[in-house]
Amino acid sequence: MQIGKKRNRMTMDVSSNEIITIENVSKAYSTGAPALNGITLHIDRGEFVFIVGDSGSGKSTLIKLLLRELTPTEGNIRVMGYDLNRIRHGKIPKFRRNLGIVFQDFRLLKDRNVYENVAFAQRIVETPTREMKKNVPSILSTVGLAGKYKAKPKQLSGGEQQRVALARALVNKPSILLADEPTGNLDPKNSWEIMKLLEQINEAGTTVIVVTHNREIVNAMQKRVVTMKKGVIVSDEEKGGYIDEED
Ligand code: ADP
Ligand code: MG
Repeated sequence: MQIGKKRNRMTMDVSSNEIITIENVSKAYSTGAPALNGITLHIDRGEFVFIVGDSGSGKSTLIKLLLRELTPTEGNIRVMGYDLNRIRHGKIPKFRRNLGIVFQDFRLLKDRNVYENVAFAQRIVETPTREMKKNVPSILSTVGLAGKYKAKPKQLSGGEQQRVALARALVNKPSILLADEPTGNLDPKNSWEIMKLLEQINEAGTTVIVVTHNREIVNAMQKRVVTMKKGVIVSDEEKGGYIDEED
């Protein structure tokens, strides 16, 4: 019995280095055409993946499915060995500790300073104060904000605010970082700085998935590029570029 059980787990958890497995996944909202229509995608531990595609092609829906904010209408998703169709409600917070997330609009706590915005993430997971006092300054220096602990979000530039959000996403040392259009509100210089940080974070071992419209950066960085169109994956290139629309 023991052996059979172990085998089962092996197939479940995927014996390789795979950290995300999306199989034949569709998602229909209550209105309109399905947002995702039978997508399959495998991502290995340590990969850096861009997800590109027109507005409305289903990119954010995919991110929400990975966060288990949504569940698929059809198909299966496994993230770090968790079967997201079967995970119990009570286990979702523990599952989410494996994920860091950054959005286009930063989503910082406006009345808290930089330090507190990052410390907040550590408090949620009940990090001992002594550790927190090491972790927060350490991640703030990684993102280049060592001198800004006391600033409130509105005293910071967009690029700085996004770095705070990035520090908050990373302070609990997630295995996977998801970024949904992280440079959508930034100028080219700050966009590059954020992308370079994401690359650095990836090189240190975190699996990074970045939804973006930034054609120049995607073409320059030579990473894996998954292109979506109307809810399906239309290409998946190892060292890809941004595919031009030919409508
Ligand atoms: P993208 O991030 O690529 O712009 P989305 O995943 O946000 O695409 O949206 C994909 C499709 O699903 C769009 O047609 C969008 O209008 C629709 N959609 C997204 N969220 C909802 C929702 N909560 N209810 C109904 N339709 C939605
Ligand atoms: Mg979106």
